[in-house]
Amino acid sequence: MPRPRVLLAVLVPLLALLGLTTPAQAAWPTPVPVVSKVSTDDPVVFITIDDGWAQNPAAAKILRDRNVPASLFLVSDAASYGVPYFRNLLDHGPSRVENHTVTHPYLSSLDLAGQRAEICGARQRALSTFGLEPRLLRPPYGVYNEDTRIAAGACGAKALVTWTHDFTTWGSWQPPTPQLQAGDIILLHFTDDLPADLNRALAAADAAGLKPARLRDYIAD
Ligand SMILES: [Zn+2]
Repeated sequence: MPRPRVLLAVLVPLLALLGLTTPAQAAWPTPVPVVSKVSTDDPVVFITIDDGWAQNPAAAKILRDRNVPASLFLVSDAASYGVPYFRNLLDHGPSRVENHTVTHPYLSSLDLAGQRAEICGARQRALSTFGLEPRLLRPPYGVYNEDTRIAAGACGAKALVTWTHDFTTWGSWQPPTPQLQAGDIILLHFTDDLPADLNRALAAADAAGLKPARLRDYIAD
């Protein structure tokens, strides 16, 4: 017969997952780490692309032609509008789908249950739409609190990822191109400017002697 302590160790995470205990009672799962830059000596950078409302064919061609292992932080509702586009990227290249919530809210404005619904809901949608499990969470707008880190862990993410440099052009405003360093996380968005922004990011990586690598492979389980 299992000892009570052993039984508790099994039951408490289960109840937390089901939303039947508060995290304070359960003390599980532990908050996931927040990563804005990877600590590594490898000559690598990480290309991440957010949202998914615009599906630009030229951007997909660059990703495929250069075999870029991009992390696609797709909003579930946006991904649903472009399933063939994203499926093509996932099936014919090393990119992976990651978690950017279902509806792109300010997560810190939601309670823990609301955050869990957004994050676990996006995981479920990625599984049902693409058959692939997101392992990283990027909170919309880069805004999060302690509950976000707890909910992320409960929804299968191993880290909350922000970014080191934002290369996104919005309208006529283009950010200055930084000198990239090993481990930098580059933020891009699925917009009509993505081809130019992506080329700028890849050229900056080339200039620094760095190669794009898959972000989830550099984050410990
Ligand atoms: Zn976003």
